[in-house]
Amino acid sequence: MMNEIYLDANATSPVLPAAIAAAEAAMREGFGNPSSSHCTGLKAKAMLAAVRARACRLLGVGDGQLTFTSGATEGIQTAVLSALCAIRERRARGEATGDLLLYGATEHKAVPETLAHWNRILGTGLELRVLPVDGYGRHQLDVLRELAPRAAMVCTMAANNETGVISDLDGIAAVLCASASPAYWMVDSVQALGKLQLDLATTRIDYAPFSGHKLYAPKGIGMLYVRRGAPYTPLMCGGGQEAGQRAGTENMAGVAALGAVLEALEAGGVLRTHEELFDFRARLADALRAALPGIVFNAPFGNALATTLNFSVPGFSSKELLDLFDAAGVRVSAGSACSSAKAAPSYVLEAMHLPHWRCAAAVRMSFGPMADQAFIDAACARIAHCGEALRKTCLIPSAGQGETSDGIVQLSVDGASSWLIFDAASASCAVIDPLAPLAPRIADLIRCQNVQVRAVLDTGADGSGRAALLPLLEGHLAMASTASAMLGQQILVPAPHSDGLAYLFGDAAADGTLPAQAVRFAFVGSALALDLGGLVNESTIVCGAHDTGAVSTYAGAGNEAETRWHGLDESALDAFLSAHPAAMLIDVREPFEHVAAGAGTWHGRPACSVPLSRLADRVGEWLRSDQRPLVFFCRSGARSEKAARCLQRLGYRNAYHVAGNLSLN
Ligand code: PLP
Repeated sequence: MMNEIYLDANATSPVLPAAIAAAEAAMREGFGNPSSSHCTGLKAKAMLAAVRARACRLLGVGDGQLTFTSGATEGIQTAVLSALCAIRERRARGEATGDLLLYGATEHKAVPETLAHWNRILGTGLELRVLPVDGYGRHQLDVLRELAPRAAMVCTMAANNETGVISDLDGIAAVLCASASPAYWMVDSVQALGKLQLDLATTRIDYAPFSGHKLYAPKGIGMLYVRRGAPYTPLMCGGGQEAGQRAGTENMAGVAALGAVLEALEAGGVLRTHEELFDFRARLADALRAALPGIVFNAPFGNALATTLNFSVPGFSSKELLDLFDAAGVRVSAGSACSSAKAAPSYVLEAMHLPHWRCAAAVRMSFGPMADQAFIDAACARIAHCGEALRKTCLIPSAGQGETSDGIVQLSVDGASSWLIFDAASASCAVIDPLAPLAPRIADLIRCQNVQVRAVLDTGADGSGRAALLPLLEGHLAMASTASAMLGQQILVPAPHSDGLAYLFGDAAADGTLPAQAVRFAFVGSALALDLGGLVNESTIVCGAHDTGAVSTYAGAGNEAETRWHGLDESALDAFLSAHPAAMLIDVREPFEHVAAGAGTWHGRPACSVPLSRLADRVGEWLRSDQRPLVFFCRSGARSEKAARCLQRLGYRNAYHVAGNLSLN
């Protein structure tokens, strides 16, 4: 198994070994309850006080208050609840409070959700208003200037979790002071901890939540700074812990671990200097530029944390890049919320008015401020390896460098499919239903494999994909002048049917025709209510232009019958494989992932690669075989489930898939 390169520190960081040791010590020896008055309790209380004192020194808390919480989300609740309760009381006394809850357009969702929640629960009836950011992700201070007199609360993060963009807190403070705004000011400081110098008590900030797990401490521990004099309402009350400000027995293991991280920060020497971090970012950016031609960075480096890189690559979705990096053991995250069907564009990048494709295809790479040279070297080498995997599999231009594919390839976007037929022997291919967004990728595949295109056909589409593709194929077009096209010994013929035009494909007879028995594939617009009369045979594989039931047999076309569930848990896999020695493990990840992973075995067994995009090419062979168990796997279990369901729909009883493969490198 290759070692993991973890580049998702903004989501959560690994835990510092000293923090693990401190947590363990707190549980083994220092397990006392800090509220107990005996020595065991007093020892725990002393530890709690020491960590708090250290945190106060590091953050410049001054005469403010620092409370331990479960994390930033709790800190945000407490800050918002405190501010809204105070606003309500002030209004009840007839004081002016402002009527807006103003929050930065790129805030973590915890902020607007919390504002809306407590505004509703408390019945404060304030208006939530977005404070826009500019193209560089910085708050628009002119808008703030205009709205500040009306703001009851202002929420502006210190640094953004997706882009690393650093807010102009001094500028915001200046506007709030100049306008004599009555607003309470919360600064979500999660991404700033350990990366930006904070001297909280010298600022106008009223509330600053922090989270331990973003800086080498475990999950479940955080801190909330409250300025002296800022209103406070506990979120939880009970036993009076945390000076009555946050009830509940303290998370002492978490506090101890956080304390170890803060101790390391205070001692110095463990965090890289700004110059070192800038150098690390520059090296990662150079490696990315070399590996991913056309890459664009989504936040200007001049004004962002050096530890965060956010980028998009033309022609690649964030899911594809995530799959690629993950296969190579590099953990990054989609810059946008990603669902299996379709990635939602990043609201942070949208707020910066970046072009749609960049918002939808963003990837975030982030590292911790304790990263070292060796780690960055390894990350750069792995990024180069990812670029190689894309070149080898023809996903980035590398004219004539790729091996020629053979057989049927399905390319999908937004639930629709284009089909490519390759004939390696004659170095030729045909394209059916090219979709416009896929045109550059199709052209890259063709140029890279140096094949001649014998046909570009539509089963019913509007022809826009064809129009987008043809100009990209210069030098590779060798279109047939007849209605049918020969690909070596195989032939592609049109077949009109009641619902449009189909194309049939198989070995040509001696007289140049395609008998029904020889039709291996039928490409159709829709597999539903398909009537191709006597032109095909029962086991012809039907390839549809839409994802739902895209691959079926002619006999079963349009059949969406319930399939029996054949999901396997990975923990049960070894036993399953022992009980079924003939079972075949099939990796359905795409070729670029397979190359990036260097995969070939799994669970000590050979695993063959049949990417989901090549499934149609193989199903006929499997259906004619002895139906031995086929166990599909991928990274998350989503694609392997699709493969197993497809096989079952086609009547292959022994198709299984492994749900959520955690042990893939
Ligand atoms: N705010 C920001 C900017 C974050 O990045 C996160 C975590 O993703 C949070 C708030 C929530 O923090 P926690 O996980 O500690 O609740």
